Amino acid sequence: MRLGLQGVVMPTVIRRESRACPRCSLPLTIVRTDGEPTFEYDVAKWGRLCHHPDTGGPLTCPGLQPVVKAWLGET
Ligand SMILES: [Zn+2]
Repeated sequence: MRLGLQGVVMPTVIRRESRACPRCSLPLTIVRTDGEPTFEYDVAKWGRLCHHPDTGGPLTCPGLQPVVKAWLGET
């Protein structure tokens, strides 16, 4: 359970959060700034761990997609 920071304006805040793919256990980190969020992951690990290498990246892995969606929706 996390509390949001609604009403607090921090334009340069950078927040890093880590999750793992529920299917492949690939660690993925989201970096939030006031611009577009970016995602960090280990490419070599992704190639080794992800069960869906044909998707081209962890963000499109069917296991991670709901996680990413929830992540982006919770701002
Ligand atoms: Zn995955």
